[in-house]
Amino acid sequence: MANYYQDNSDLQFHFKNRDLSRVISLVEDDFAERNEYAHAPKDQEDALDNYERVLAVVGEISADFVAPRAREVDLTGAQFTDGEVAYPEGLQEAVKRINQADLAGFILKRKYGGLNMPTTVFSAAIELFARADASLPLIVSLQALAATVEKFGSDEQKERILPRFASGEMIGSMALTEPDAGSDLQSIMLKASEQSDGTWQLNGVKRFITSGCEQLSLVMARSEEGSKGGRGISLFIYERDQGMRIRRIENKLGIKGSPTCELQFTDAKAELLGKRKMGLVKYTMHLMNSARLAIAAQAVGIAEGAYQEANSYAKDRRQFKRSIQDIPLVYEMLTNMRVSIDAARSMLYETSSIVDIKEGIENSIELHPERRADLKSDLSRYSKYASLFTPLIKRFAADMANQVCYDAIQVHGGVGFTKEFDAERHYRDVRITSIYEGTSQLQVVGAIGGVVGGVVFDRLDDYENENDFSEVKALHESAQELRACLKAAVSHVKEKADPEFQEYHSERLVDIATDTLLAYLFCIDALKSDLKKKVGHLFITAALTRAKSNVDFIKTDDISMMEFHAEILGQVEI
Ligand SMILES: Cc1cc2nc3c(=O)[nH]c(=O)nc-3n(C[C@H](O)[C@H](O)[C@H](O)COP(=O)(O)OP(=O)(O)OC[C@H]3O[C@@H](n4cnc5c(N)ncnc54)[C@H](O)[C@@H]3O)c2cc1C
Repeated sequence: MANYYQDNSDLQFHFKNRDLSRVISLVEDDFAERNEYAHAPKDQEDALDNYERVLAVVGEISADFVAPRAREVDLTGAQFTDGEVAYPEGLQEAVKRINQADLAGFILKRKYGGLNMPTTVFSAAIELFARADASLPLIVSLQALAATVEKFGSDEQKERILPRFASGEMIGSMALTEPDAGSDLQSIMLKASEQSDGTWQLNGVKRFITSGCEQLSLVMARSEEGSKGGRGISLFIYERDQGMRIRRIENKLGIKGSPTCELQFTDAKAELLGKRKMGLVKYTMHLMNSARLAIAAQAVGIAEGAYQEANSYAKDRRQFKRSIQDIPLVYEMLTNMRVSIDAARSMLYETSSIVDIKEGIENSIELHPERRADLKSDLSRYSKYASLFTPLIKRFAADMANQVCYDAIQVHGGVGFTKEFDAERHYRDVRITSIYEGTSQLQVVGAIGGVVGGVVFDRLDDYENENDFSEVKALHESAQELRACLKAAVSHVKEKADPEFQEYHSERLVDIATDTLLAYLFCIDALKSDLKKKVGHLFITAALTRAKSNVDFIKTDDISMMEFHAEILGQVEI
């Protein structure tokens, strides 16, 4: 039987070698539920064992059940007839299979019928599903929506809604984007008006809503009349009724199994989630950060699928009387694909663990208020790390996966451009990962504060303090060189004290920061694996060249791009 977890030694590496002890203690609240639920782990070892068992089930479903249906899902696509949406049959069957395996409430608490899995395991599950079919994780990852209700909803809302998510009876959608408000969510206009009975009415249009046809939507709306900006926005729970009409679904390049809906709300009855005016600044940010991590996992999964297919094709394909895998220009492409997937995976699970620790500390403080003083500084530290790492990995994984899928077609040559192989599907499916849940450019905007503000250096200090790198001396020295590049670039930009200059170089700064963090993560992984020493060497050597070139450019103070672009783009008279 094929199994996408058991055939993936790199993914297993992270579960066998990463120290998840703090994540487990926090997520399990020191195993407080061990006597209450038969399937709750008894100790650390039991929890890890449980995670691997669940991932083996997900790996088997992905390889044996989901993957064989993926082509048909892509060809049929979601359909829109008479105002209603139908998912492709293969996707419906996949969701049913997941529900039968009791995987619908992956990250929800046991008291609501969930599995209480950490985000780290959830990311792995999404990666595995995405390798099989990129449309499926969009449905699975919308569990993040239930987690937002779990975190910010009232007890009544949680008890009413969460068990339906955990049983698989309910899927949800996240309705943020509008025709005139995409990256700039502060400018949304969909109106929420409070009614005398305390409920709300929604009026307006949402666009590009994944699974917007589902029973429940979290809808972001302007609740404060006449307000502008983020503070006038609240988040609402909307259960589907006559008040919402699906106007159409998008005809897309990829992820065709996933319906992307345009929704018209007309006096649609909704209820407030959490507090008024906190919709964007708190709840949606939480929801989007979870979703961003899920997209990073989706990107890694698609890239893994593309790489596996390309590598096995290259092994068998012969040209010039030898396997194309032995031709330098081909094996370099394939090896770079493998190296960059390993890099992304390393940061994906690092970020997932950081998020688990941050969420776990918040949960612990809620359950045990007496621990607040002890945990306060750790919470602040991990919150900053989560805010930095989430946009970094979303951007790195998505852009990496796009390159991998591009190269996968190249390795196949002409057949890669046809439907004989999955390479063309991966190439179409992966494109969206750099766009939704905030484009790669918006991830730069989200990360730059943590890069310039020093959060990245705090994390690098942790890595230095927590590890003895003497066994991987050469790698470590190169990682330190990268850190020096980052420091030089950040100092140079800060000395200018010019926000425009900083914005102009923000992508370069974020690139160097990402490469530096990845270099350290490779050093840590290399302490446990000889193969990682080699993979890390290839990554860090290339990263250092990129970083030096970026620093050199930043230091030239050349701002020709800022000066010339308007004329070149025809925005000013020549
Ligand atoms: C298939 C699909 C599924 C989706 N699912 C959902 C969903 O479930 N829920 C939901 O609410 N939305 C969803 N979206 C919407 C998606 O999140 C937005 O399309 C995305 O955030 C970009 O917004 P936009 O399309 O309006 O592009 P724009 O905001 O118009 O951006 C256009 C370009 O300008 C750049 N840009 C804009 N502002 C800046 C800036 N400040 N700095 C640098 N560059 C900038 C962008 O990077 C981009 O290159 C989905 C979209 C698609 C295509």
